[in-house]
Amino acid sequence: MTAFTVRLVPCLTDNYAVLIHLPDSGATILVDAPEDGPIRAALGTEGWRLSHVLLTHHHGDHVQAVPLLRAETGAAVIGPAAEADKLPALDRAVADGDRFAIGGLDIAVIATPGHTLGEVSYFLPAAKLAFTGDTLFSLGCGRVFEGTPEMMWASLETLKRVLPDDTSVYCGHEYTASNARFALSVDGDNAALAARAREVEALRAAGRPTLPVTMAAEKAANPFLRADEPALARAMGLEGQPAAAVFAAVRRAKDTFK
Ligand SMILES: [Zn+2]
Repeated sequence: MTAFTVRLVPCLTDNYAVLIHLPDSGATILVDAPEDGPIRAALGTEGWRLSHVLLTHHHGDHVQAVPLLRAETGAAVIGPAAEADKLPALDRAVADGDRFAIGGLDIAVIATPGHTLGEVSYFLPAAKLAFTGDTLFSLGCGRVFEGTPEMMWASLETLKRVLPDDTSVYCGHEYTASNARFALSVDGDNAALAARAREVEALRAAGRPTLPVTMAAEKAANPFLRADEPALARAMGLEGQPAAAVFAAVRRAKDTFK
């Protein structure tokens, strides 16, 4: 097993970049590039040299630091082929089902469209890590900007099926506290959700991130992953309806939740 160290880097108001360092090869992988300053500072503190950048999707708050970081480090940039025309120049364009390795660490590409049409998630099976960008958040999911609710639900179902329970999930934003308030409003009888909400409150009160979170915890508590659960359909007044319809109703309710 390739040794690795993961460091979460808060950027902008509520974005996260993630650094993965592989001491055996000296490789350092950045997942998404919201802001160069904090990423450069984290690299400097650790004494790591950036070698690769993985991009989840084309939004500015995930890619805008790429040109500066690439100019400084020569890092290779990897991102979804389907959004190559909207991304900084890619050294490697990837698509669903692709697998490649960096410094001996295996990386699988999972297409997760909906928030944007070409968004991908990255799964590192041996390291038990997943990076879900703006598709899956803790207790939430991304807004459906470019795709359809059906597409987003299919992406979340894929993540539920493919990512083992003990996967540590890293998301693109620290939205968990506000996601918890909404989740409790639609799934208030869910004990796992109540427990996670208390944990999130304590973490945020201590100034700590709520990520990573295990896939098992998300499957139990995230209403957007539970659209196929009869209890949630009932709570939405959609008993017997297809999961995609329940998901769409939950997503609509979240879009207007105050
Ligand atoms: Zn986005």
